[in-house]
Amino acid sequence: MDIKTLFHNLREEVSCLVCTNIYTDPKQLPCLHSFCLHCLNQWHRTSHGRDTIRCPKCQALSRVPESGDLKDLPTSFYLNGLIDVLAIREYQTSQAKCGNCDKSSSESSYCFQCCMFYCQECVLGHNIMKSYKDHRVLALKDFEVKDYEDVMKRPVFCPKEDHNKEELKYFCKTCEIPVCQICVTLDHGGHNMKLIKEEVEIQKSEMRSLLEKQRRNLQAKMKTVNQLDEEFAKLMQQAEDVKRDVQRLVDNLVAVIEAKKQNILSSLEKETSRSLDLVTERKTEIQRQITAIESSLENADKLLTRSSNAEIVQLKKSLDAIFEGVSQTEPINRSTESLPAGFIFKQNPKLLETVKTDDIGTLQILQLTKANHVICEGKGIEEGMVNCEAQFTLTSRNIRGKQCYNERDHVTVEIRDKRGRECATEVGINDCGDGLYQIKYTPKDQGRCKVLQHKLVIKLICT
Ligand SMILES: [Zn+2]
Ligand SMILES: [Zn+2]
Ligand SMILES: [Zn+2]
Ligand SMILES: [Zn+2]
Ligand SMILES: [Zn+2]
Ligand SMILES: [Zn+2]
Repeated sequence: MDIKTLFHNLREEVSCLVCTNIYTDPKQLPCLHSFCLHCLNQWHRTSHGRDTIRCPKCQALSRVPESGDLKDLPTSFYLNGLIDVLAIREYQTSQAKCGNCDKSSSESSYCFQCCMFYCQECVLGHNIMKSYKDHRVLALKDFEVKDYEDVMKRPVFCPKEDHNKEELKYFCKTCEIPVCQICVTLDHGGHNMKLIKEEVEIQKSEMRSLLEKQRRNLQAKMKTVNQLDEEFAKLMQQAEDVKRDVQRLVDNLVAVIEAKKQNILSSLEKETSRSLDLVTERKTEIQRQITAIESSLENADKLLTRSSNAEIVQLKKSLDAIFEGVSQTEPINRSTESLPAGFIFKQNPKLLETVKTDDIGTLQILQLTKANHVICEGKGIEEGMVNCEAQFTLTSRNIRGKQCYNERDHVTVEIRDKRGRECATEVGINDCGDGLYQIKYTPKDQGRCKVLQHKLVIKLICT
């Protein structure tokens, strides 16, 4: 392992999520999350189930070991190694505790075989022990990169208290746990044992292929998520397009109706002004006549009172002449005059009815048609006569077998004989726009024929 990766976030990595301290006796749950044994015990006491334990991190539910004791959960040897690496890294600031006398000291050493820290005094005792003569001991201040790696690769001892730090050298295939020599003799009599270093190669390769499979699975899932994202965006876009199309149609309809309204309003204006002109003209003419009559009457009155008899006798003739030119005023007679009687608006009831009953369009939900769900029906599918037009219909259907239409479908029909030669002329396809296609063709050969549409093959017998 890259040492930089090892040191990165080291303290965080060896801190228990429950108590936030450096792990003490880290135990691993089946979800691969680890916690201090005492934290797990406390957590388990406050939870409901006795036989199961919920992971404090991912909430996954796991079975409590058969013994009912969480101590029998697998020990995280990896974390134990990391805890020692951290202690060695930080020995100057936080002194390492001697595994023998519990004294904390900054002058400690580490034994790679005992996996323990020793203070200056105890390390002397350790080094003169005959049974420890092969142990490798290194002062913490002398640690180099390679030595940290060795700490991580140190042997792993049996966690059972009375097994006296026996190395876990075997794998019990019956119980599926690593065991020490003492475990083998005491607890696993007759079990299927294997050396751990042999078993590890098999398991590594199995795990690698399992991981590879899951990696591919992950990729496939990510691809599907991408496809769903694309589908999401596509649907959003299509919804926007439909909205825009509906709005455009409604705007057009409103514009057409607005133009028709303007048409009527402008002819109304034209007709009104023509009629008003006629009325005004007529009134002006009558007023002119009124003025003329009034002036003649005034003159005649004057003459009648002031003139001599001889003049009056003459006047009668003149008056007759004057009033002869004045027409008699008649009341307005609409039947003879060009004046309109008025205006009304007669609406087109059909249009209103049409707008009420007809839709401006329909929302079509596109469904994927399936080529192998297409069905063909009609006389022309069973028989055809040479040089006589034969017909049948083809219905495109969706996955549930319901008739449906997809604009993007491209239906082609080929009529072939057994040997695959085309045996019909003038094949015509009429797309009815609702999932129905009318097919017609003229057989040109005798014999059995096939109709191919998409990948579906239908046999035709030509007589
Ligand atoms: Zn803890
Ligand atoms: Zn978990
Ligand atoms: Zn000591
Ligand atoms: Zn030792
Ligand atoms: Zn066993
Ligand atoms: Zn053991």
